[in-house]
Amino acid sequence: MIRLRAVSKVHKNGFKALDGVDLTVSKGEFLYLVGPSGAGKSTLLNMIFCTEEPSDGDIFIDNFSLRTLSKKQVPFYRRNVGMIFQDYKLLPNRTVYENIAFALRVMHYSRSKIRAHVMQVLELVGLQDKTKHYPSELSGGEQQRICIARAIVNDPAILLADEPTESLDPETSWEIIHLLSKINTRKTTVIVATHNQGIVDDVRKRVVELGEGKVIRDQYLGKYE
Ligand code: ADP
Repeated sequence: MIRLRAVSKVHKNGFKALDGVDLTVSKGEFLYLVGPSGAGKSTLLNMIFCTEEPSDGDIFIDNFSLRTLSKKQVPFYRRNVGMIFQDYKLLPNRTVYENIAFALRVMHYSRSKIRAHVMQVLELVGLQDKTKHYPSELSGGEQQRICIARAIVNDPAILLADEPTESLDPETSWEIIHLLSKINTRKTTVIVATHNQGIVDDVRKRVVELGEGKVIRDQYLGKYE
């Protein structure tokens, strides 16, 4: 369902962040993207999320080329793709409820439908009693769970996570990965860019390693190294 064909990215300063990447990810797969800092992991996720464009090559989602998307169509495409960041990116002056409902307001759903969706994802991440809290009143792990709830509230086919456990302690990191695995069992394709060797080695999944912008390993039930 996600296919990268000879994707390269050359930045304005001439730096090649991705170099001829071929990668196919099937519907419902869980994949770790590993590799040292600067290997191109974020660049790859950003391209699937359409915040960066390839300099060369093509990305297909269900045989549909992202190159053919107009600027206007990008927000519609993104309803199908959730993204989680290392630094959460929650709106600080909105409650937990509002942070999640925000994504649904543009869909012109009724109030009761929005409420039902928000409460359903909050229950899934185990934070249904935090609706009125502000992000600053939550722990790092709780904030990340809210981000996950926000990312999946539209029931996207694809969930991308860029270093989701980077700022978390080991136990909370486990909780987050188990939550992502649980979401994966709902047939959501999950791609996690991570440095977290402990988790990659213990929660074994497909591992794609990038090195200097190239895929240097693609292994099912792989380890970090
Ligand atoms: P990773 O996520 O694996 O750490 P990134 O995708 O963030 O790697 O970055 C890949 C490389 O591209 C890095 O060397 C980074 O410095 C470079 N890079 C990223 N964005 C830009 C940019 N806008 N301009 C120039 N170089 C960039």
